[in-house]
Amino acid sequence: MTVSAPQPTTLQEELAQLKKDKNAVILAHYYQEPEIQEVADFIGDSLELAKKAAETSAEIIVFAGVHFMAETAKILNPSKRVFLPDLNAGCSLADSCPPEAFRKLKEQYPDHVVVTYINCSAEIKTHSDVVCTSSNAEKVINSIPPEKQIIFAPDKNLGKYLMQKTGREMLLWDGACIVHEAFSLDKMLELYKQHPSAKIIAHPESETHILKIANYIGSTSGMLNYVKGSEHDTFIVATEAGILHQMQNDVPQKTLIPAPAKEDNTCACSECAFMKMNTLKKLYDCLAKETPEIKLSEDLMKKALVPIKRMLQLS
Ligand code: SF4
Repeated sequence: MTVSAPQPTTLQEELAQLKKDKNAVILAHYYQEPEIQEVADFIGDSLELAKKAAETSAEIIVFAGVHFMAETAKILNPSKRVFLPDLNAGCSLADSCPPEAFRKLKEQYPDHVVVTYINCSAEIKTHSDVVCTSSNAEKVINSIPPEKQIIFAPDKNLGKYLMQKTGREMLLWDGACIVHEAFSLDKMLELYKQHPSAKIIAHPESETHILKIANYIGSTSGMLNYVKGSEHDTFIVATEAGILHQMQNDVPQKTLIPAPAKEDNTCACSECAFMKMNTLKKLYDCLAKETPEIKLSEDLMKKALVPIKRMLQLS
């Protein structure tokens, strides 16, 4: 199978010009629509995009992702203006950890080290000792002295996976991502019967029963690298379906099958409704009109930066 490069649309060309005129950079997550990924300066997972945001010299960062990612970009590079095409592009996982309830939990366990997955609000980050992403979570947990107890938030599925990988007991916040909890084990096993030579790859935000049948578990970029380096040619991919665009570009000759969701839907795969709130048109408008902008108080940025910096030092 050969894949020819898509022709840029007028809006994509206009956006490219606008970007130059305004000295802007577009950072896009792998879960964004293909037409957005095509205009991005960098495409990556949370960790890669955080690093790019920290080091960019562009005046403006347009973040094609969800709210907590744009917040992280602003915290890492506060002198830049950061825009998010749709301010409603939130995250079910981040929303599952309200700051007031989390603060109360922390008060009950004042001696625990608090590790938070980057998929949480800036305010939750201010209550953290160290932040992690799915790429570096194991390393972050292993860096904590063994005699210390740990609170891990907000993703209980990633937390359970890390407990099993590191052998550390952790107090887990009861949060989850609706997209990664949507995969159907029964349908996946049925699909596997039809493709017995396929390798199942899964993001660690998926439920334990899905991770148990996976041949590879890793972050979005970890999954991309696994598929590129593998001698196998068919993969069932259990994460947000947007990753398939970049993956297919990387391995045009391989067969990629999105893992089926419990609910019947048109594409038989899982898509993050929050990520898909961003469109090419909204991306263009947001840069043209310079709104909506991410605004955070100095104090909040200063406090949230500390655990993010710790993570970057460990990565
Ligand atoms: S896929 Fe899940 S964790 Fe990622 S942004 Fe969407 S709701 Fe949040």
